[in-house]
Amino acid sequence: MRRDADHLPVVVIGAGAAGFLAALFAARGMRAAGTGRPVLLLERTHEGGRKILMSGGGRCNVLPSELDPRRFVTASSPNTLKKLLLSWPLREQRRFFEEELGLPLALEEETGKLFPVSDRARDVRDRLRDLALREGAEMRFDCLVTALEPTVDSWRVGLAGGGEIHAARVALATGGLSVPATGSDGTGLDIARRLGHTIHDTYPALTPLTAKPHRYAPLAGVSLPVTLEAPVGRRVFVTRGGFLVTHKGYSGPAVLNVSHLAVLSRRAGGPPQPIHVRWTSLDAESWDRELRAAEGTVLGALRGRLPARLAEALLEDAAVGAATPLAQLRREDRRRIVDALTRHPLPWTGDEGYVKAEVTGGGVALEEIDPRTLESRVRPGLFLCGEILDAFGPIGGYNFAWAWATGRAAGLGMAAERASGAGPEAPGRGRLEG
Ligand SMILES: Cc1cc2nc3c(=O)[nH]c(=O)nc-3n(C[C@H](O)[C@H](O)[C@H](O)COP(=O)(O)OP(=O)(O)OC[C@H]3O[C@@H](n4cnc5c(N)ncnc54)[C@H](O)[C@@H]3O)c2cc1C
Repeated sequence: MRRDADHLPVVVIGAGAAGFLAALFAARGMRAAGTGRPVLLLERTHEGGRKILMSGGGRCNVLPSELDPRRFVTASSPNTLKKLLLSWPLREQRRFFEEELGLPLALEEETGKLFPVSDRARDVRDRLRDLALREGAEMRFDCLVTALEPTVDSWRVGLAGGGEIHAARVALATGGLSVPATGSDGTGLDIARRLGHTIHDTYPALTPLTAKPHRYAPLAGVSLPVTLEAPVGRRVFVTRGGFLVTHKGYSGPAVLNVSHLAVLSRRAGGPPQPIHVRWTSLDAESWDRELRAAEGTVLGALRGRLPARLAEALLEDAAVGAATPLAQLRREDRRRIVDALTRHPLPWTGDEGYVKAEVTGGGVALEEIDPRTLESRVRPGLFLCGEILDAFGPIGGYNFAWAWATGRAAGLGMAAERASGAGPEAPGRGRLEG
């Protein structure tokens, strides 16, 4: 039976960062175009946006102050990634939050992160939801989508419990596999796979590392800024930032940023990814000079720049007595200390997986979507946005920037009416300008 395709809603599945933006911009676009087509946002949890609520330790690091596409990781085309990300320039994203949502952002100088001045993640989630409602989007919570199939002239969205909705176009904004308790358990990835999309292997990223046995367990709670270096082929992945010793191993932004390399090396089954720590801002030459010039004990020299307990542990690693007077330090001892301070191999053995991962590596291949509209090239009428796509960035607001940019583009893409009407088999495609 053919339905009146002109009156079918467009449906966004998943009310996370990307889904809220997709629904908001789809509703706004529909209104601007005067189509009167309803926009429906379906969300399995009771209120949506759970990751927004827990982000940035409850403060929500909404955006970075600078956005470098080269810092993203993808197995797809980095060029497509860049186009998608920069489709909504950072300054315009910031203007949207500050002016349209009425949520001024403040810069945290030492990290370059932008947080709401209120420091309340809830403000971000609530204002996105409220603006989407004001734009005319309808929302259904406690609504689990279990199936998605194209029909002759529409999409059939199957719901848990047996209900179904017919839609003119559908956006999958269901996230990846990270922190499944927030609602993202991979259902959307399975749906995309069944619809014929290539899914690049998924893996936990931005996740803490573990160590068994944990040589530094007595240091749990010690934190400091470090530089981590991880050789990958002929290149070296370098990340600077906070480092935290935990009861299980290591966390903090620098560790999270390098963790995908550790995870991937474990999956490959080869040798574990080497990760070297430079514990201070001094390089080997500067430390060598400092240890020659300073007076007093070797522990005294290290304690000036490192937490005392860590300095003691590093001297133990270097097999040099903490009380050794610097004047009596042999060249060999000094070399071992400098190595421990500047290229210390991090003894990690595992990772905390999806339970703690802030994002998912891998996902829907970027080549299979139109970078201007986020429409599937495999299934016209299907749009994909957010973490379900094959891309993630480092800690610092990069991942929300991705979710906001792709969510907005998908919403606008859905709102762009095709000349030949709705439905997965319609030959024309909606396009965004620019
Ligand atoms: C602890 C933590 C802290 C973080 N902090 C930051 C930060 O400060 N800054 C930053 O940039 N990034 C941060 N991130 C990453 C960021 O939260 C994600 O990149 C972003 O939320 C991804 O948005 P999304 O909308 O694509 O997916 P999600 O936020 O995962 O949303 C997907 C939504 O879809 C719903 N859903 C899934 N399947 C179905 C279905 N079958 N039917 C109906 N609904 C469904 C889910 O319930 C969920 O609401 C953090 C992540 C975590 C876990």
